[in-house]
Amino acid sequence: MKYISTRGQTAHKPFSEVLLMGLAPDGGLMLPEHYPQIGADTLQHWRGLSYPELAFEIMRLFVTDIPADDLRDIINRTYTEAAFGSAEITPVRTLSDGIKIQALSNGPTLAFKDMAMQFLGNAFEYVLGKEGKVLNILGATSGDTGSAAEYALRGKKGVNVFMLSPEGKMSSFQRAQMFSLQDENIHNIAVEGMFDDCQDIVKAVQNDAAFKAQYHIGTVNSINWGRIVAQVVYYFAGYFNATTSNEQKVSFCVPSGNFGNVCAGHIARQMGLPIHRLIVATNENDVLDEFFKTGAYRPRTTEHTHVTSSPSMDISKASNFERFVFDLMDRDSSEIQVLWAEVAAGKGFDLHFVLDKVREQYGFVSGKSHHADRIATIKQVFESDGELIDPHTADGIKVAREVREPGETVVCLETALAAKFDATIREAVGDVAIPRPAGLEGLEDLPQRVQIVSNNAEVVKDLIRKALDQ
Ligand SMILES: *Cc1c(COP(=O)(O)O)cnc(C)c1O
Repeated sequence: MKYISTRGQTAHKPFSEVLLMGLAPDGGLMLPEHYPQIGADTLQHWRGLSYPELAFEIMRLFVTDIPADDLRDIINRTYTEAAFGSAEITPVRTLSDGIKIQALSNGPTLAFKDMAMQFLGNAFEYVLGKEGKVLNILGATSGDTGSAAEYALRGKKGVNVFMLSPEGKMSSFQRAQMFSLQDENIHNIAVEGMFDDCQDIVKAVQNDAAFKAQYHIGTVNSINWGRIVAQVVYYFAGYFNATTSNEQKVSFCVPSGNFGNVCAGHIARQMGLPIHRLIVATNENDVLDEFFKTGAYRPRTTEHTHVTSSPSMDISKASNFERFVFDLMDRDSSEIQVLWAEVAAGKGFDLHFVLDKVREQYGFVSGKSHHADRIATIKQVFESDGELIDPHTADGIKVAREVREPGETVVCLETALAAKFDATIREAVGDVAIPRPAGLEGLEDLPQRVQIVSNNAEVVKDLIRKALDQ
């Protein structure tokens, strides 16, 4: 299996190389040259597999340049009961109104990003070790991504993580999660500024080509192909859990921001998994809902991005969206170049003339949720089912209830646990005890390791130099 860029100007590459890439050199995103097709017999066989066995069968179709036994070993070390809380890894449960919830957030940082990041950590270590390379990850986080990356890469050989976060802006839980890590290869850097300042520093360092090359600077953002391919697996697992026969169809409802999660659902559907519809749920930042309703894609500027109570979906541009549009445009890379030139010019584009295809051929629909909906949904689910759901999952459930058709089986992806967002949960249900997974009691009391720096890229570069020039 080789990989191609959505912009069509990059040589075809094998998985191991794509794994370590961010954007393609031509500015596009990498995708497999075709999606493997899963026939009825294979699907029947897969129904009986454990999560790691299923992950191996799916991923080996995309990962053809790592020996099968090595890939199996990476997967077996990743998807364990110890890391994800149950042997099923992503169990499915049913609410009293019939909506199903697939748990994706029982990994170390209590958000679905662990599902892919934990794999990425082991895959990075393997590929870097084989090639005798090192990689120094520089990232900016406002919470979930940074902690998922740090927990995936802590203690891994050949990798250092330099994670910038806005000083004093994350919740005390999020700070404690990241800053309590004592691993030598994890460097927490709190910048005196906002999240955007952190991102600007990352860009400034990336733009210093000499520094970037000398210090082997890389990233693990949501466009990484290794993350997408790991996410394809849980759509198959969720389908098997929610059905008893492969004659049945299931719709997935996905709380969305950068379109990374639901992009994996799109790929599973293209492979032949019997997915009826892919329901994209957004919060007040509705750039995706607008597209799926009208065909107009109008990325917002940072000033027009709302700060909401489902913060991990506060995005203005959906960085993985180009992968779907590439398929939608029948993989015409010159068309993608034209459309994204419009995006770069701040204009966006309008594809209303293919909306039928988006819905009928690709199964996409969407909906949107506001703060009041989120609060009401958390409260209502607590009253009817006695369980606390996180604000992002609540956005999904709100939208799923709105668009569900009679007889349709809808699986909502649980993208985080309530324990991470206690302020919003309390606003919804009052002062109740919010369950925390075992081992995380007293997290905030652990010693913390963080360096506070001024909002200055040169200061961050110096800090990286000092850490690596030893
Ligand atoms: C990252 C994240 C999302 C959005 O996922 P995308 O892949 O960016 O669409 C939703 N919910 C939570 C809790 C997240 O951390």
